[in-house]
Amino acid sequence: MRTCIGCRTRSEADGLLRVVVVHGALTPDPRRRLPGRGAWLHPALECLHRAERRSAFPRALRVPGKLDVAAVREHLIVANGIRETPGSVTDESKVDPS
Ligand SMILES: [Zn+2]
Repeated sequence: MRTCIGCRTRSEADGLLRVVVVHGALTPDPRRRLPGRGAWLHPALECLHRAERRSAFPRALRVPGKLDVAAVREHLIVANGIRETPGSVTDESKVDPS
């Protein structure tokens, strides 16, 4: 069992995406082969957004400062088959009261 750093829900590791830091950038590690400390995240943009807002990546990975989540976002978009076209973005418009 692993805890998603976005929503903090415990899940089987199989249902979570491993994310590591490579050269200062967050890197998705779906095969779980990259060395080093990993953070676990549901393969969902909502969990990524939550993790970003809470600065969960630097904390989970023990890296100071902000980390670039672009590669992870890209991975999730491809994995979920989401097309980010202007005017049809629904995910960003959701406001999380926390
Ligand atoms: Zn989650």
